[in-house]
Amino acid sequence: MILEIVLYGHPALRSRGAKIKKVDERIRKLAADMIETMIAADGCGLAAQQVGVPLQLCVVDVREVKNRPSRMWIDGKEVDPDAHMPLVLVNPQVDMVGPIEAGVEGCLSIPGITAEVARPRKVKVRALDLEEKELCFEATGLLSRAVQHELDHLNGVLFIDRLDNQTREALQPELDKLLHNSTQR
Ligand code: ZN
Repeated sequence: MILEIVLYGHPALRSRGAKIKKVDERIRKLAADMIETMIAADGCGLAAQQVGVPLQLCVVDVREVKNRPSRMWIDGKEVDPDAHMPLVLVNPQVDMVGPIEAGVEGCLSIPGITAEVARPRKVKVRALDLEEKELCFEATGLLSRAVQHELDHLNGVLFIDRLDNQTREALQPELDKLLHNSTQR
């Protein structure tokens, strides 16, 4: 089922996600619907906050983005990221390492706005999957960026919070317009 993606200005986007105590049928259904919603919206990640449910749950799928490669390692061995998509991350814990890289980001909850965001190059992720098995991997490239963007959502943070003042100020009129539209609904 395709869910409604909430837009900039919705309070769920500023809520820290509650830890998921048990991966039950409700969580599995939510994750499946989030994957369907992400794919239908041509996104490469979606957090539960974006469908109005503040939980520590996000989905990521970078397969469709061919011009921004990703690398992924499991147990220190490099794997094909495509073979592990879509990823469902329950209660993810992420260490970010390496030099800072700038890259363009957008967000399904902030339509029409993109900007360069500086983030560490690599992530080391520990999460649960939908069978409550531990899922550990490392990633660089778009997958690393997507995981960091989704992790921010789980903490109520948006990519526009990470822009330098000048960029943020330049985008403010567009953001104000979005805010106006989303509060009119
Ligand atoms: Zn987003």
